[in-house]
Amino acid sequence: MFKNLKPIMFENSRIPGWVSKFTPIDAYAISFFIFVFAKGELSSLTKRHETIHFQQQLELLFVGQWLLYAYYFVRNYMKLKDGKMSYYLNPFELEAFVGAPNINYLKTRKRYSSWWAYRKQYKSGGHSKKTKK
Ligand SMILES: [Zn+2]
Repeated sequence: MFKNLKPIMFENSRIPGWVSKFTPIDAYAISFFIFVFAKGELSSLTKRHETIHFQQQLELLFVGQWLLYAYYFVRNYMKLKDGKMSYYLNPFELEAFVGAPNINYLKTRKRYSSWWAYRKQYKSGGHSKKTKK
């Protein structure tokens, strides 16, 4: 249900620039509620990336995605102390970056399980404990 719904996209918007001032991320485009705001024009790849975020928000009734997105960011940041890496390793971003190059991704995407599958990405690539000699 609602698989074909797309967000309303605004190109050449000032909003990403404002948001970048208050977050560690220099975002080109931002998906928020039923809207997407982009600094310049949106490529079809970026449109798919942002539409994936829209679908993630939709299935978590928007607020759920915002809270989880913030949770994953903070969790990553506490481990990595790196805003950019914390952003890229967010399961919602991992799904969007991996899924967007596939033009059929949004048609075949599974509800919830799609981003959920990426949630342990950081742990699996994590540090191994050094053993004492
Ligand atoms: Zn994204």
